[in-house]
Amino acid sequence: MSFTIHATDGAARRGTLTTPHGEIRTPAFMPVGTCATVKGMTPESVRGLGADIILGNTYHLMLRPGAERVSALGGLHKFMNWPHPILTDSGGFQVMSLAGLRKMDETGVTFQSHIDGSKHHLTPERSIEIQHLLGTDITMAFDECTPFPASHEVAKRSMELSMRWAERSADAFKKLKRYPPLTLPPKGREATANAGAEGVDHLLFGIVQGSTYEDLRSDSINALTSIGFDGYAIGGLAVGEGQAEMFRVLNFTTPNMPEAAPRYLMGVGKPDDILGAVERGVDMFDCVIPTRSGRLARAYTSRGEVNIKNARHRDDPRPLDENCDCPVCTNYSRAYLHHLFKADEMLGPILMSWHNLHYYQNLMQTIRSAIAENTLADTSATLRDNWEKGDLTAL
Ligand SMILES: [Zn+2]
Repeated sequence: MSFTIHATDGAARRGTLTTPHGEIRTPAFMPVGTCATVKGMTPESVRGLGADIILGNTYHLMLRPGAERVSALGGLHKFMNWPHPILTDSGGFQVMSLAGLRKMDETGVTFQSHIDGSKHHLTPERSIEIQHLLGTDITMAFDECTPFPASHEVAKRSMELSMRWAERSADAFKKLKRYPPLTLPPKGREATANAGAEGVDHLLFGIVQGSTYEDLRSDSINALTSIGFDGYAIGGLAVGEGQAEMFRVLNFTTPNMPEAAPRYLMGVGKPDDILGAVERGVDMFDCVIPTRSGRLARAYTSRGEVNIKNARHRDDPRPLDENCDCPVCTNYSRAYLHHLFKADEMLGPILMSWHNLHYYQNLMQTIRSAIAENTLADTSATLRDNWEKGDLTAL
């Protein structure tokens, strides 16, 4: 098995997931590298903050620069200089949220590129092929992210389609697995350059759907486990249902998921969403929040959220977070960060993204240590107390 659980604390698990490009300590947060870059950050600095794995987006990469091109250039790891684990999504979610003129049928989705209007057809087989060309360590099955809210009837039909697509994804993955992840080796380069460690398998995750309905989530888990995947993701959450509803769904979903496999909650979330989901047995997360909020001058700190554009920071020589040892909090004041945003300088978004990503990785390390020491309840209470206190009073 590629996943080892070292310790548990309540439903929370401390584990290690082994992939061709290295190990992932779980619970893990994956920074999002949408277009083969974690926005505003060099891969070296992302790694330096303690990230074991990043996420790439199939939808964006298939349109620009194109999966075949990335493959010919040595695969995504080499292309973006991130020689560590990568997970790619299947493209299904972003086709639904970004592309124009979508038409879905049993075979897949036809859509227009949001970049140049060109027409594309994405199927489970093509999604798996694209992820294979990119050379990803963790491939996601192609699914339909059920819109929210959805009636039971709509959610059932959508989930059942995703389960048929999951089976086709698994078949396509098995066929491609016989080949090294690069099918288009350019002249003068080893075809297996991007394959990662020998003898370590590339992984395929299935995605549990079923909206907010307990019976549908349960049916979806049964369908996926009968196909058999290396890990199981929970899709269709963090789509506007709110934290209480998301936790309610997790309460009846994670206990039914295979215990020995990693569980990945897609697209989540804020620090308190992540903590609550870890307490409900989730092992992996991804979200654009640390970088997107950073670009918008919002920071996540040990004392909750801070908007550095606020005038109260104009004369404040203190760091963003007095409990943070990131390069930003060590070297720069709130007043300076405030100035960068006021002057519309590009360093502002960069420094705020840097701090936020550090805060997230540090939070995951705190959570992992607490699970290992069986002190997650105390650690969670302290974290939540401090978040609720709110930001420092103005000087
Ligand atoms: Zn910091």
